[in-house]
Amino acid sequence: MSVLPRRFKRIKDVLNSRIQDLTVLIEGVNKPHNLSAIIRTCDAAGVFQANFICNHSEVKTFNSTAQGSQKWVKLNNHESYLSATNTLKKRGFKLYGTSLNENSIDYRDLDFTKNTCFVLGAEKWGLSKELTAQVDKSIYIPMNGMVQSLNVSVAGAILLFEAIRQRKNKNLIPYDGEGLNQEEYKNTLFEWTYPELIDIYKKSNKDYPSLDENGKICC
Ligand code: SAM
Repeated sequence: MSVLPRRFKRIKDVLNSRIQDLTVLIEGVNKPHNLSAIIRTCDAAGVFQANFICNHSEVKTFNSTAQGSQKWVKLNNHESYLSATNTLKKRGFKLYGTSLNENSIDYRDLDFTKNTCFVLGAEKWGLSKELTAQVDKSIYIPMNGMVQSLNVSVAGAILLFEAIRQRKNKNLIPYDGEGLNQEEYKNTLFEWTYPELIDIYKKSNKDYPSLDENGKICC
């Protein structure tokens, strides 16, 4: 089993610039094209994983909008808003809830260069009160139109790319895999290169093997 050198280089280039300390937490977004658009934006921005509050096991995505990006962004499902916020806070994330209330801060006034999680809410209702009570800060994107809010995937894109802009300005975008811990890097490199072998290794409870510089499996 082998991988084409050009394909392996592309996989490594993308993985080398993935960022683990920038993410989103999605609550109640139920239109597959919106979920897909958010995941696609995560991929484009270099986000390593996205978080969902979802009590069924799989996030519903819409392939033509996602363009396959769900293969390149890890999707973490959390059973409840509390398990999501506890897990993310334990990992050191600051939670920025998006809501258009009087306590919200203009997103342009904040620093998103470290441990940032944008919390995005449902198309119709926005973020729940319970989840809003758990966030560190509430933020908003100023608007001038007649309509009261942006599409959730558009709001997510504005915020993620603001975080990327700030990090670029401070030379904080990874280029050599330093945005991920070593184990995560090794496992993801294997999974992206040989997706058809993932189940075999998982079923046999074996660690993934290392890959050599050409992407060949080392014995
Ligand atoms: N009626 C809902 C409300 O009051 O929150 C509108 C929900 S909006 C269509 C869906 C989601 O998009 C929001 O929960 C938020 O995550 C995001 N969003 C939309 N417009 C935003 C804005 N101007 N600033 C920040 N987030 C926004």
